[in-house]
Amino acid sequence: MVQPSQPVRVRIAPSPTGRLHVGTARAALFNHLYARQHGGTFILRIEDTDKARSEKKFEEEIIAGLTWLGLTWDEGPYRQSEHQDEHSQAIQTLLADDLAYQQEGSEAVFLRVAPGEVTFADAVRGNVTIKTDTWGGDFVIARTPQDPVFHLAVVVDDAAQRISHVIRGEDHLTNTARHILLQRALVLPTPQYAHLPLLLDEKRRKLSKRSGEVSLLAYREMGYLPEALLNYLALLGWNPGDDREYFSYDELVTAFSLTRVQKSGAIFSLMKLNSMNQHYLRHLPPPELQRVAAEYAAQTLHDPLRVSEQALLTEQQRVSTLRELVEDTAFARQDWGADYAPEVLVWRKSTPEATMTYLERLAPVLDAIPDADFTKEKLEAKLLAWIDAEQLGRGDVLWPMRVALTGREHSPGPFEVAAALGREETVARLHKALDKLKK
Ligand code: GLU
Repeated sequence: MVQPSQPVRVRIAPSPTGRLHVGTARAALFNHLYARQHGGTFILRIEDTDKARSEKKFEEEIIAGLTWLGLTWDEGPYRQSEHQDEHSQAIQTLLADDLAYQQEGSEAVFLRVAPGEVTFADAVRGNVTIKTDTWGGDFVIARTPQDPVFHLAVVVDDAAQRISHVIRGEDHLTNTARHILLQRALVLPTPQYAHLPLLLDEKRRKLSKRSGEVSLLAYREMGYLPEALLNYLALLGWNPGDDREYFSYDELVTAFSLTRVQKSGAIFSLMKLNSMNQHYLRHLPPPELQRVAAEYAAQTLHDPLRVSEQALLTEQQRVSTLRELVEDTAFARQDWGADYAPEVLVWRKSTPEATMTYLERLAPVLDAIPDADFTKEKLEAKLLAWIDAEQLGRGDVLWPMRVALTGREHSPGPFEVAAALGREETVARLHKALDKLKK
């Protein structure tokens, strides 16, 4: 059992056999917070015992993902493959003590398991009892005496790295029973276990690829802010006991506790994440917004950001992701290509023919406005007055105008877009739209 005086040493131990899963990121966060709260040590251990499926690029992704979220580790990355001697030694000891055996004609090593049950105290779930027949009794601990499987390697490494608490997903519950049997056989200490609830999708199925995106870095590519994702992940299975929702990293370090981790599954809701991301985006100070948008455009879209700060600031209040922010302000780019479908120009209450006549009448009006009056306020006053005087519908005119200037259904308003583009470009784009409608 863990002694109160024992230093807290926790780990995240992902296998580099696929993209870093959001569930692993959640486990990393809880371990990290627990370590920070207790003046402990957070360790990164790459579990690469499955040589055939482990890949360097996935290890790099684990490191990039944890770094992006700001979940810095104090030791590691250790690699399980670097400790093969210790693993082989443990296997030899078990064989020598007849606690493990090899079947005739096979190299695989099995641990002997007496029928019965294993009970352990889980920090989240209380006492947990698992029958050894859940997995069929004896189980494989190594493919050959030199080639351990996950169970053996985890137990030996946790002991060697003096892990005090193993905080990991509920899908490992039966593994924990097996690991405790191995610890007993090897006379190694049993850490304190805490099993985190499963992540579910909105249909309450286990979160998996068929539920949608499950890779952490895909969320970076989709334009989520790390602080929003971190906040969101913290609430997947943990709650502060009051109705607070927004937590900075420092607030999480103070508020988090294992005792407030729930047993029931936690639902990963994209809608909720979007609203959280929107909150964080709205609260970014302008220089910071400019910086993260530019970084996002360069890193993810491989294209420098070329929009005015004004355009970014207007969109900031409306969008939920950096991707939307950058895409919806793409109209301001010099190489904007007008590659939208002509149907988008037609307002829902209008027709292509009517849209053409509105744009034809609007173009000379805009062209006659002096450059000095091409500001959002002046354009708004002049165009609204003209629309009213001509007894036209605002939507009939302003919708196609905005789409002609941006190519998008969602974008900043027509007056500020026109102001940002200037007279000449604005009129040129109206003519491009007319050409499209005429085709
Ligand atoms: N390599 C295991 C996994 O990726 C880690 C399990 C553990 O935390 O002990 O699920």
